[in-house]
Amino acid sequence: MPNTLFDALFAPLHGRTEDFLILPDGGTLSGDAFLRLVARQAHALRAAGLGVGDRIAVQIAKSPEALAVYGAAVALGAIFLPLNTAYTADEVEYFLGNATPKLFLCDGAKQAALAPVAARHGAQVLTLNPDGSGSLSDAAAGQPEVISPADRGPDDLAAFLYTSGTTGRSKGAMLTHGNLLSNAQVLVDLWRFTADDVLLHALPIFHTHGLFVASNISLLTGGRMIFLPGFDLETVLRLLPQATSMMGVPTFYTRLLDDARFTRDLVGHMRLFISGSAPLLAETHTSFEARTGHRILERYGMTETNMNTSNPYEGERRAGTVGLPLPGVELRVMQDGTERPRGEVGVIEVRGPNVFKGYWQMPEKTREELREDGWFITGDLGWQGTDGYVTIVGRAKDLVISGGFNVYPKEVELLLDEVPGVLESAVIGLPHPDFGEAVFAVLVPQKGAELVPEAVLAAIADRLARFKQPKAAVVLPDLPRNTMGKVQKNLLRDQFRGWFSA
Ligand code: AMP
Repeated sequence: MPNTLFDALFAPLHGRTEDFLILPDGGTLSGDAFLRLVARQAHALRAAGLGVGDRIAVQIAKSPEALAVYGAAVALGAIFLPLNTAYTADEVEYFLGNATPKLFLCDGAKQAALAPVAARHGAQVLTLNPDGSGSLSDAAAGQPEVISPADRGPDDLAAFLYTSGTTGRSKGAMLTHGNLLSNAQVLVDLWRFTADDVLLHALPIFHTHGLFVASNISLLTGGRMIFLPGFDLETVLRLLPQATSMMGVPTFYTRLLDDARFTRDLVGHMRLFISGSAPLLAETHTSFEARTGHRILERYGMTETNMNTSNPYEGERRAGTVGLPLPGVELRVMQDGTERPRGEVGVIEVRGPNVFKGYWQMPEKTREELREDGWFITGDLGWQGTDGYVTIVGRAKDLVISGGFNVYPKEVELLLDEVPGVLESAVIGLPHPDFGEAVFAVLVPQKGAELVPEAVLAAIADRLARFKQPKAAVVLPDLPRNTMGKVQKNLLRDQFRGWFSA
């Protein structure tokens, strides 16, 4: 039966004896062996009752078997719901309550703690451990190695990805077969991925970047992946010589640059480095080029839309920008219901085949963020130049309104980052008795540098209108980041909330 994603991503692995996954211990798995694993798991999951439209929630370590569960869910027409491995039992309780999956797959080490949670929401529990063992693998052993996929078209749901939820409860973004396949096809073309590529994959596979961007591209082209359980600097340095391409969050690149063994010689053979999920500092882009000769290609996307924009493969990869809208993706910048002229900041909206179908069981949230005519309000603030390049200046919720004036944190951060001794900065708004909100800066020093907050603020004073200047600053050893490298400004706001009111 036709199955949009299975036919494009998984079925072509049939008979492929070449490596598909290269593992850090030197082991490999061929495309055909991976597909047989998918089939065995699909039969086991079907025997456990999973069928078309059922949800399967997974909170499992990254492994070939874990990636195969994605394929098995697609084959059965079930909805794949991957969860961050860092979530606690309380958080898992929320997701299981919201998504009411038929099956919940977890690490055997957490089974005792999570089984009662799953039971409360009517989900059956199976286990999959980091080494690939567990009750799912036991049930899959000896199952048929061929699966006839369920009939699924482009508009059918393939996955729920939950947003990271820093400002409220996580929302389950409903993504269809067509959303995922169309985006993978565009990215393969744009970034020139082929079956000859070997992608170094150190990203988690519970997030759109590692699961859809990286894995779907490799599946679609029949390329290989060096499939690492996480970003371990030593392993990445050891295996980079075997790779042709790498996808990462900005912190992967700063960690590589911090190591003297990361040299032009080590990566001279590489074809492409891609960055996304959080802003890549222009300085990282420039240092990376100076060290390696490669210009990192930065792109911009999100859970609800997969990828929206990308710097070009050929043409200028402009530091500090996220490039141009992808082919087929419309982008506009809006404020108060009207489109902003080029060059002016507003909220970015996107429309295209990549845009999700809404938030699972949250019709109001869906109406607030997804317009009836298909435009999705991303919540990101940015502007588009006359030449089409898009620059993100921050999240709308991070906008600081001080004394009635808008302050875009990024504008202040860029100036602070230029002050000698400043590695990076985060600008936030804090409650202030006179101004409503006051601009506040958190500064991170470069290695070995001593920063005096007042001196740093004085250094930028004549370059910024007074209302944009931070009223105070503090120095921290580093910024709080989530697994995808995003600065968690909500934590900084909580930490310093009373600064001006105390
Ligand atoms: P997530 O849904 O977890 O993938 O987060 C999506 C958000 O990450 C976007 O809405 C942006 O705020 C941010 N983001 C992703 N890529 C970039 C990028 N290249 N530059 C700046 N922000 C980015």
